[in-house]
Amino acid sequence: MNRRHRAVAVAIAAAFLASPLRADSPPAWVNDYQAPATRLIDEATRDHFAWNRLALLTDTIGARLSGSPQLDRAIAWAVSEMKRDGLENVHTEKVMVPKWVRGNEGAEIISPSRHTLAMLGLGDSVGTPRDGVEAAVVVIHGFEELEAHAQSLRGRIVLLNVPFTTYPETSRYRRAGASRAARHGAVAVLVRSIGPDGLRLPHTGELSYAADVPRIPAAAISSEDADLIERISTRGEKVVVRLKMEAHLEPDVESANVVGELRGRERPDEIVVVGGHLDSWDVGAGATDDGGGCVVAMEALRIMNKLGLRPRRTVRVVLWTNEENGGRGGVGYRDRHRDELRNHIAMIESDNGVFRPLGFGVAGSDGVRQTVAAIASLLVPLGASSVTPGGDGADIAPSIREAHIPGLSLEVDGSKYFTVHHTQADTIDKIDPAEMAKCAAAMTVMAYVLSDAPTNVLSGIR
Ligand SMILES: [Zn+2]
Repeated sequence: MNRRHRAVAVAIAAAFLASPLRADSPPAWVNDYQAPATRLIDEATRDHFAWNRLALLTDTIGARLSGSPQLDRAIAWAVSEMKRDGLENVHTEKVMVPKWVRGNEGAEIISPSRHTLAMLGLGDSVGTPRDGVEAAVVVIHGFEELEAHAQSLRGRIVLLNVPFTTYPETSRYRRAGASRAARHGAVAVLVRSIGPDGLRLPHTGELSYAADVPRIPAAAISSEDADLIERISTRGEKVVVRLKMEAHLEPDVESANVVGELRGRERPDEIVVVGGHLDSWDVGAGATDDGGGCVVAMEALRIMNKLGLRPRRTVRVVLWTNEENGGRGGVGYRDRHRDELRNHIAMIESDNGVFRPLGFGVAGSDGVRQTVAAIASLLVPLGASSVTPGGDGADIAPSIREAHIPGLSLEVDGSKYFTVHHTQADTIDKIDPAEMAKCAAAMTVMAYVLSDAPTNVLSGIR
């Protein structure tokens, strides 16, 4: 935080101490937005435009892994859709991305009896030799246990069988498990899928290799299959698994972030960003993660434009590339826009699914939180007025951390998200059109008011 920011922050904190805000008594300036907010909400929720647009993306293009022709098609599609919406300055911004290719893959228990495992190789994993890796499995339930059994892992396949609790708690086994096991001589790793149990779905996701140990292949298996291996092992029988994966990394390829704007009518150099990530994993159709987030961000600008509500500042939609296995799009945006980051009023990311909206997560000062809470009071009709910690989504994080930009995340009912996350089941039928329309409405109102609010109000958050 530089001196100017500190001075502003102190002034704002003082202002808020003098007049504490409550969601049920928003400040007078917010009341001026009641009428436009009602119009924006009505427009967003009167039909299923957002859901139909997402269906077009997921049905005709489908999954969009970095480096795939499908992602290239999705980028071209987004450009043409933004132009069709009448947005300004629609363009792509080149980003080089890693190209990981899954290839054919499979795993089976070959002893004591044959069982095909429901598996998905982990993103960025190396492959196996052509004939696969065949070894006895050691079942491990956490990193402490892994270290305690360090002597018995050599030449084995390690199964990290840790039931899903929360994503941050259990995704670390997917991310770090391969290198933690390789350090003690394991030849491959299987990870119990990071998601609630159900219907034998493997969940893929990115792993991260340590630089100083051999890279070993790693795959997720369904929770049911992890439990199967565990039961047989617990009876004292040796479980032998054969894993075959063709996965490999190819040289980086060109990709792009997609950008469109509604230029501000008074202060076009000041910017509010809304966005989601256009890439997805290569399974399912990337509907929830994060096609829906992209579409509701696009909706914010389409709906304002359609109603002729041009805000004081510029609203910019950004569809980032390569969130899932590299984060290059978010870093690329920060680097390309470094000179104007100080003019970013706020950045709003939707990457939690487009289920029933609850409100916004906020990363920023108390002043930011109070301002967002005041605007969120306009979202009471949607049931989306809550303001909680959060707001530092993966694609906006590089920019908001570098320039102390207030960050917001659309928060939704999370009960279904991790059931389909990174699986073949991430398809549009899991998304309710009316709930998605409400997400679009919440994004639109928040982006509109942040980009239009009186300057004296926003001097508090930036
Ligand atoms: Zn995502």
